[in-house]
Amino acid sequence: MNTPETVDFADLALSAPVLQAIKAIGYEQPSPIQAACIPAMLSGKDVLGTAQTGTGKTAAFALPVLSMLNTRSKRVQALVLAPTRELAIQVSEAFQSYASKIQGFQVLPVYGGQGMDTQLRQLKRGVQVVVGTPGRVMDHLRRGTLQLDALKTVVLDEADEMLRMGFIDDVTWILEQAPAERQVALFSATMPAPIRRIADQYLKDPEEIRIEGKTQTVDRIEQRYWQVSGTNKLDALTRMLEVESFDGVIMFARTKTATVELADKLSARGYAASAINGDMTQKLRERTIEQLKSGRVDILVATDVAARGIDVARVSHVINYDIPYDTEAYVHRIGRTGRAGRSGKAILFVAPRERRMLRAIEKATGQNITPMELPTREEVNKLRREQFKQQVVDTLAHPDVGYFQNMIQELLHEQSVDAEAIAAALALMAQKDSLLMPRKAKTESAPAAADKPVKRDKTEKRTKVAAADERIAKAKKDTPEGHVHMVKYRIAVGHDHEVQPGDIVGAIANEAEIDSEFIGRIRIFEDHSVIELPDGMPEKTFQQLKQVWVRNQKLDIQRVDALRKRNGPKRKKPGNDGATEGRGPIPKKPRRQPPKGK
Ligand code: AMP
Repeated sequence: MNTPETVDFADLALSAPVLQAIKAIGYEQPSPIQAACIPAMLSGKDVLGTAQTGTGKTAAFALPVLSMLNTRSKRVQALVLAPTRELAIQVSEAFQSYASKIQGFQVLPVYGGQGMDTQLRQLKRGVQVVVGTPGRVMDHLRRGTLQLDALKTVVLDEADEMLRMGFIDDVTWILEQAPAERQVALFSATMPAPIRRIADQYLKDPEEIRIEGKTQTVDRIEQRYWQVSGTNKLDALTRMLEVESFDGVIMFARTKTATVELADKLSARGYAASAINGDMTQKLRERTIEQLKSGRVDILVATDVAARGIDVARVSHVINYDIPYDTEAYVHRIGRTGRAGRSGKAILFVAPRERRMLRAIEKATGQNITPMELPTREEVNKLRREQFKQQVVDTLAHPDVGYFQNMIQELLHEQSVDAEAIAAALALMAQKDSLLMPRKAKTESAPAAADKPVKRDKTEKRTKVAAADERIAKAKKDTPEGHVHMVKYRIAVGHDHEVQPGDIVGAIANEAEIDSEFIGRIRIFEDHSVIELPDGMPEKTFQQLKQVWVRNQKLDIQRVDALRKRNGPKRKKPGNDGATEGRGPIPKKPRRQPPKGK
């Protein structure tokens, strides 16, 4: 088996469009199972792979299948059997993305519970790859709606799960229907006897691939994991960084694109972070590592390839933001800390479906990885208070303090206030509302949505969004009555897109430079929202707002009164119309002139 150190996707004889798709997705290097499985499958061999989810096994079979595809033919050339409908859909989506540069490619997921009609129509039209659960695939074969005479490859994905779910007879029946000259790739996390028997009976001299790490010691490194739940990963990460006392950090993400995005987001949140990945020249990578060494950068966000061999003594933490796809990679990663005889800490983010990989890592390292809790809001706030107090104490030693001391004396003399009140006012000026975490962090109220990509998310804007949320919360307490004339606008983002009022306020405040104080009531409907903005928005701002993206949707902002003129009067619906309300504060006293013109 090739070692991951020596293999590049370009070495694997994959077809050009497949390589292009991988490049576009941003995979830097084949995972061990891909490095072993792709050449075997491309050479036409059968494959018996012991590997679980998270090792990259889907690409390990999908990439060679796609590379060998005859795109001129619309007949079924590959059949993937999967134990569940979810996996069938997931695998089918993976095929779709790896085939993004193949013209005319069609994949169809087939599973029970879904109406036959759509499947029949699509099968009739012609698909090259079918991914299905055994029961439904059998149905189609029996009806003759799925034909396997042009089949080249059968993949059994998660065979042990299919056995556990009682599908094994169906699987063998389906294998019997396949042409004698076909390739079979069987993947299973474990190899119980019935699966072995299937392998013996239906696979011809298979290439056996086992993805298991050797036991490796990682003493001196304290290992913890955080089970991803509730709070989104980025917020969890920044909360951890607040309470961990770290020096240098190497953080791991899976793709090149992800390293850049994460480094940008961390920079926007005030950390000295840089990305390092295989897209960068050797020189630039070296320079970035130098910056980590010298302390100009504290956090490097790296891919596995780019971080290989980094030896920087001040790296106190390794954070596995994305779980690695095999245990060996994990050992390599965490070995970036605990250098030069120092101790190190490793933190691993584990999504629920990645728990098996966590157990595999524990087995391979022979060590327990202890679960960790996210620091609470109270803990973070307590720490911020202590840090702030310390900052004040440190500043007392500053040579310019005397000058300001005189000024305060004057102030005490002129105003009838005591020194404590003045100090408190100054502290407020220094911190505004950023010292303490808001009572309910935005991300905790919308955990699922927060992990999704947001098109307009130019990172620094997110922080403003959070601030806007805070202001909304405050405004809800003491709803001020305003005297600025407000106009209603319709925007094309709503509950369907999991939008939160803060997203809208943040986007508008940033893009149109309308102070969020001037943003009025927001009503969120299923597929759109209605927002109140001060009358007199300049045309340029209006046009600019039309182009803004929120939650993957273009705002496509339109004045409601103009829409009504076009579409006729609105029908009145009785009672609750299903909208959720948020409110941007309407000021009593505008701090800044609302935009004029138009
Ligand atoms: P799988 O084991 O097939 O479920 O894949 C697990 C995850 O790893 C998926 O999110 C893939 O997109 C990702 N992945 C697969 N291969 C690679 C690779 N070579 N580099 C980076 N990520 C990958």
